[in-house]
Amino acid sequence: MSKSAYETKRDFSRTPEPRGGRKRAGKAPRFVIQKHDASTLHYDFRLEVGSVLKSWAVPRGPSTDPADKRLAVPTEDHPLDYADFEGVIPEGQYGGGTVLVWDCGPYENITEKHGRIVPLAKALADGHALVRLKGEKLTGGYALQRTGKKENGRWLLVKLDDAAADRRRNPVSTQPDSVLSGRSLQDIAAGEAKG
Ligand code: MN
Repeated sequence: MSKSAYETKRDFSRTPEPRGGRKRAGKAPRFVIQKHDASTLHYDFRLEVGSVLKSWAVPRGPSTDPADKRLAVPTEDHPLDYADFEGVIPEGQYGGGTVLVWDCGPYENITEKHGRIVPLAKALADGHALVRLKGEKLTGGYALQRTGKKENGRWLLVKLDDAAADRRRNPVSTQPDSVLSGRSLQDIAAGEAKG
């Protein structure tokens, strides 16, 4: 079996990131948003689809305001094991820098066409997907919409205008730390556990 883009970009003798390979058959699919202090701070938005995490880098992070259209740049599929990774990726490794799990939880595919659910892999291939998140910080519907040409298209991540929409919340700034460990990026970079 040939190496994935994820594997090709990493030296697993040097990075603490997981190699992957684990399957999670039979469980509700999960989403994870990892805050990543690389050369520039961004939020990696990942959805479990089949045996991989489909991934986008969101420079400004997700919003709870339906009026905000957040740029989401596709990145390579990550292994399912990546969903609970927090740590420090060495300099020189792809995407080096400090990572924390900013939010995670199950999600539901709510993409419909003619009254029927469209499988998420197909929805993403078509460039339009709707998901309902059940995280700690983010809940309710989000749209992922590709703009421009398929090959080098950018995507937008936009909150749906539902009961969980909130124009006044700003969780990216008010809830900055890990939902798994309570640690900040600085705590993780310093190798300290909080509390
Ligand atoms: Mn990243």
